[in-house]
Amino acid sequence: MSWSAKDINTGSAHSARMYDYFLGGKDNYPPDQEAAEKVLAVLPHARTIARNNRYFMRRSARMLAQEAGIRQFLDIGTGIPTSPNLHEVIQEIAPEARIVYTDNDPIVLTHARALLTSAPQGMTAYAEADLREPRSILTAPELLETLDLTKPVALMMISILHFVPPEYDHYAVLGELVDALPSGSYLALTYGTSDFAPEEMKRAADVYAASRVPVRQRPKEEIEQFFQGLELVEPGLVPVHRWRPDDPALGKLSDADVSMFGGVARKP
Ligand code: SAH
Repeated sequence: MSWSAKDINTGSAHSARMYDYFLGGKDNYPPDQEAAEKVLAVLPHARTIARNNRYFMRRSARMLAQEAGIRQFLDIGTGIPTSPNLHEVIQEIAPEARIVYTDNDPIVLTHARALLTSAPQGMTAYAEADLREPRSILTAPELLETLDLTKPVALMMISILHFVPPEYDHYAVLGELVDALPSGSYLALTYGTSDFAPEEMKRAADVYAASRVPVRQRPKEEIEQFFQGLELVEPGLVPVHRWRPDDPALGKLSDADVSMFGGVARKP
């Protein structure tokens, strides 16, 4: 892994560090805090959204390891480590599981050590790669050394695809990754929506855009299309807090509070 401090631009806001701020983390800088506070001013539920996205990640990962028996995971847009991280959730069930983390923000790379704490029976790796170029992910040496792409893989796309700039074809980007995985693989995806709180979400997207972090929200039908050719598992594509909730408190949230769809699907 190569990294130098000059690669980290702390002079402008970044989605990973804004997200870290929403989650109450400490790895963010004044421009991130400022941009995040502007989002909170127009979208007071931003912290609820971030937290519930993170809970969905944990519940879906548990289901994939436990019920689906998946032992290989590819996490794209990992973010700044937040306990429990994906490998901690999975290896509690299957210590032999292998997890590859990827992100394009150098600040995530500087924290990668917290992601490389695999159980001895399994393995974790971190690859700096960009989702705008799916091939760069699929051919990353860290991925090829860790995962066997002839065996099922769970592709984790948790709150990331909506950050791919709108000039890229989101369906093509995702399709290239799913195509590279064998039958029996899974896709877990969450994606922001303006279906439930259109005005607040629009204002939040404007704040992100003004901070040079473009974000594209979509209606449910468009998010459903990401799963084309795949078999959604129960309960289908739903607001993330309604996906196999494990805590009665989740039932008290409204869809507008969460404004994020999530689903898990199997590649036939
Ligand atoms: N998946 C994590 C973090 C989501 S925050 C979670 O749900 O908790 C979104 C992450 O996507 C950030 O860490 C950001 O750096 C990363 N990201 C944004 N655009 C990216 C791109 N083009 N390629 C790779 N990662 C990207």
